[in-house]
Amino acid sequence: MIQSTIPGKIKLSSKLVSKVLNKLEKMGLIERTPTMYNKRKTYIVKPNVETATKVLREIGEDFISLEDVIKEIINIPCVKCPQTERCYEGGFYDPAFCPLLGEYIENKINNYNKNSQ
Ligand code: SF4
Repeated sequence: MIQSTIPGKIKLSSKLVSKVLNKLEKMGLIERTPTMYNKRKTYIVKPNVETATKVLREIGEDFISLEDVIKEIINIPCVKCPQTERCYEGGFYDPAFCPLLGEYIENKINNYNKNSQ
């Protein structure tokens, strides 16, 4: 998938998509290769299928497509959180006590339980 085409497909700003893709790349969930598209620099974005599938299975989702992976990962509160760099165990921002992350995980568990009945 060409990075510059993603914002229109999932109706998010280019800036947010770029920020999310940077994080996904750092997490090893995608790989990006520089390319030219419509005479502009952009990237070819490919999922690291093995890692993405493992992560999605752990949270109760099946891997379907790169678009679905991006949509799913964008919903994880930490991906868009401005405190990501300052959030750590025992810190002022601590994942163990984060209401946003707690609510996200609770919803995932509830959905997983509903789907597995
Ligand atoms: S755990 Fe909460 S505060 Fe920390 S990065 Fe995630 S959403 Fe932000």
